[in-house]
Amino acid sequence: MEFIPAGEIIGEAHQVRTVTIKQSPQLPDGEYSFIDTYCADPDCDCRKTMIQVMHNGKLVSIINYGWESATFYESWMGSSAKDNSMPKMHGASIDITSPDLVGRDGMLALFNALLNDIWIAKIKRHYDEVKAAMSERTK
Ligand SMILES: [Zn+2]
Repeated sequence: MEFIPAGEIIGEAHQVRTVTIKQSPQLPDGEYSFIDTYCADPDCDCRKTMIQVMHNGKLVSIINYGWESATFYESWMGSSAKDNSMPKMHGASIDITSPDLVGRDGMLALFNALLNDIWIAKIKRHYDEVKAAMSERTK
C-alpha cells in the first residue's frame, strides 16, 4: 500500500500542522510538523492516515490514525481482525516503520492532545480529496 502526502495531491489548499514545543518532560524542544499522508489506491477504503512527524526538518516518528470506530475496522478487515498481530487501526498508534527518534509515549500524548474536531475534519477532507484525485488519474 503506497502512502502519499496530501500536499502533493491537493497542493496549495493543504496546510501542514506545526507546533512548537518548549520544556516538555517527554519531547525535545523545537518545531514539530505533522504531514498527513494517505493510501493512494482509489479502490481501497481503509479510512486512515499515516502522519509523518518532522522535528526541525527531520523525520522522527510515524503515527497511524484511524478516525472510524474499532467496529468499522474489524468488519473492514474481516476475520483477520481477530488476529492480534494485526495493527490497531482505530485511534492513534505509532507505526511499525516509525524511526522513533523521540519517545513513543510522548509523541502519542502530543498527537492526542492536538487532535480536535477541526483537525479530524481536515484529515477526513484530505482523505476524500486524495482518493478523488487518484481515481481521476487512473481513469
Ligand atoms: Zn488503503
